[in-house]
Amino acid sequence: MSCAICEGPIPNALEEGEYPGALTKFLNGYNGYELCSICGDAEGMAWKFGNRNIKWHMIWSIEYQDWQAWKDAVLSHINGKWFANTKVE
Ligand SMILES: [Zn+2]
Repeated sequence: MSCAICEGPIPNALEEGEYPGALTKFLNGYNGYELCSICGDAEGMAWKFGNRNIKWHMIWSIEYQDWQAWKDAVLSHINGKWFANTKVE
């Protein structure tokens, strides 16, 4: 099984398949989706400390139960997009 967000190995490239990934925080483990350690950490970090554009996007995703939007928000956090003071396109 690969990461539901980035499609990378779970839990990480070095220990692939050795233990399960964390369940996504989206809707308390939506569809049983497992994440790699990078996305799992990013999800938590973006939620707690992410810039407000990303956080707003995450709140919106939950409100509309939109997995794709949640995934985009987490990937944006990982890729360093939407830093504070940048506009959401
Ligand atoms: Zn991932």
